[in-house]
Amino acid sequence: MIDQLLASLQVVALPLKSKFRGITVREVALFKGPAGWGEFAPFLEYDDRESSTWLLSAIDAATNPAPMAYRDFIKVNATLPSLNSAQEIAELLQSFAGCDTVKIKVGESLTEDIVRVAQVRSLLPKAKLRLDVNGGWSVDQALINLHKIYEEVGPLEYVEQPCATLEELRLLKEKLKIEIKVTGDEVIRKAADPFAIDLQGAVDILMLKVAPLGGVTRAREIAAHHKLPLVVSSALDSAVGISYGLQLAASLPSLDYACGLATGQLLSADIADLPLLNGQLEVNPISPDGDLLAKYAVPVERLTWWQERTKRAFYAGAESEIKAKGWTW
Ligand SMILES: [Mg+2]
Repeated sequence: MIDQLLASLQVVALPLKSKFRGITVREVALFKGPAGWGEFAPFLEYDDRESSTWLLSAIDAATNPAPMAYRDFIKVNATLPSLNSAQEIAELLQSFAGCDTVKIKVGESLTEDIVRVAQVRSLLPKAKLRLDVNGGWSVDQALINLHKIYEEVGPLEYVEQPCATLEELRLLKEKLKIEIKVTGDEVIRKAADPFAIDLQGAVDILMLKVAPLGGVTRAREIAAHHKLPLVVSSALDSAVGISYGLQLAASLPSLDYACGLATGQLLSADIADLPLLNGQLEVNPISPDGDLLAKYAVPVERLTWWQERTKRAFYAGAESEIKAKGWTW
């Protein structure tokens, strides 16, 4: 499998509209398998072990048909990076027209956070607002900051990963004096074994990201194991990777929250069309456009780097899982 995979590997560099996670260009590797396209795009700093679950996800998608779908369209939220320019915020929100939920990155500076959240509130008075802290606050900081933001801008739908660890999240939930749900993201996607952790009392909602959790098949197993309300999100994927999130979201028997799958709006170019239609994305298999693959192709030294990386990720964990699951090409 790995030889066929490497032989068809193509890598693109997709420009972002503004800096996100400290990057301005997103490199994505793609290959074709018997059931469709695989997208392998761990962030550049991830090691082979962490990347191996991303490769497992790509191989799952390229090997297995999509699970049965309960819905054809998935409601999505707008995603706002930690921008501080009022004009940039307004422009970015425009590109998410139709979304009635906005996820806002916070955590660098409380003063800037409040201004940013308040601006979204004034631009979209009826929208549901969520915050994502990426585990950046201590319990005490989270208590102070969440109470302060609540005082300034009113109720929030939920806060994603306010603190890093499950113990901190549990303590925070005990001490919070305002009504706000806590969503777990890093606690699950960075866990050595996402089945082995106890989320009881620590999170109210579980975030599922297909690639870091090892694919649609494994994400569905993780969801069934933890039995919590779910939100499906992407990790700045191309349209191909986003389509896996849409497949997963469509396959969940109940889905009560808008999903974070509209991150394609943060890219200024993509390899396939996946239009945002009135705050929703349509569930469909996606194949990259050959002309766009060529247009955004990386130079040969980057392709070589990705081929090496893919091979290392395969042997760092993906191969044994694939054998255990009996997937073949
Ligand atoms: Mg997050």
